Amino acid sequence: MASEACAAARALVASAHRITVLTGAGVSTDSGIPDFRGPDGLWTRDADAGLGATLDAYLSDPAVRRRSWRAKLDSPVWTAKPNAAHLALVELERSGRLRTVVTQNIDGLHQKAGSDPHRVLELHGTLHATVCLGCGATGPMRDALKRVADGEQEPDCPRCRGILKSATVSFGQELDGEVLRRARLAALDCDVLLVAGTSLSVQPAAGLVPLAAKAGAQVIICNAEPTPYDSVAAVVLHEPVADVLPDLSSVPPSGGGRFSSWGDPSTWS
Ligand code: NAD
Repeated sequence: MASEACAAARALVASAHRITVLTGAGVSTDSGIPDFRGPDGLWTRDADAGLGATLDAYLSDPAVRRRSWRAKLDSPVWTAKPNAAHLALVELERSGRLRTVVTQNIDGLHQKAGSDPHRVLELHGTLHATVCLGCGATGPMRDALKRVADGEQEPDCPRCRGILKSATVSFGQELDGEVLRRARLAALDCDVLLVAGTSLSVQPAAGLVPLAAKAGAQVIICNAEPTPYDSVAAVVLHEPVADVLPDLSSVPPSGGGRFSSWGDPSTWS
């Protein structure tokens, strides 16, 4: 990769001490998991595909729940393997500079690639677990899917018979407050925010970008298409993440750089 923008991104990564990464569905498309809004995205191809994705629809309509369980059985997530983009972030973490991966993805591929699970914040939850919307009990997704494969159209909570759902955040559902708090701290406490494979059209995830920029971080955005936050970025790369991330993660530290920490926002007056 030889463009001026790539050189600028490499220089920022070289001088960074604390890197926070924000990823989206675009880092997993090379693993065979389609995104929502990219050119081949599920919602680009079928504008109605996202209509059942609200919590209200799931709660009120048994047909939505049955469709959702059937679709989960066939999800590409179960067989997907991490790609060069996920592996590059593991390499960057091993160099000691990547502190946190904030991901909007629900596929678990960062952890499968070898990222330290304690450093991965799953803003939108995970497809690998279930949660009961009645009693809050959680369990492994594979147990629920086995029941679906065995013929149950809609597995219920084994404890209270309540409505079971994947432990993912649907539209209309609140994010886990503690995960969001830690993601915001990670955005404030970095000198480079590296954003990869996200359209930055979902809040509050996208809001991490201006938050980091305001706190003084240099923002690098790598996404195939323009995003609403390109103007706050120091560098924008419209390149495939599987090319850019390995390139950036191989940059040796330059030893310089600057660092500022704003601490916990709850302590600001
Ligand atoms: P999005 O679909 O809105 O945007 C993905 C962006 O990535 C698009 O702009 C696309 O052009 C770009 N992109 C796709 N492949 C790329 C590549 N190889 N290199 C560079 N850019 C690439 O997805 P989002 O911003 O993550 O937000 C949508 C929501 O979708 C999130 O809430 C997430 O939970 C959910 N989602 C997750 C998965 C997953 O877990 N893998 C898959 C689909 C959707």
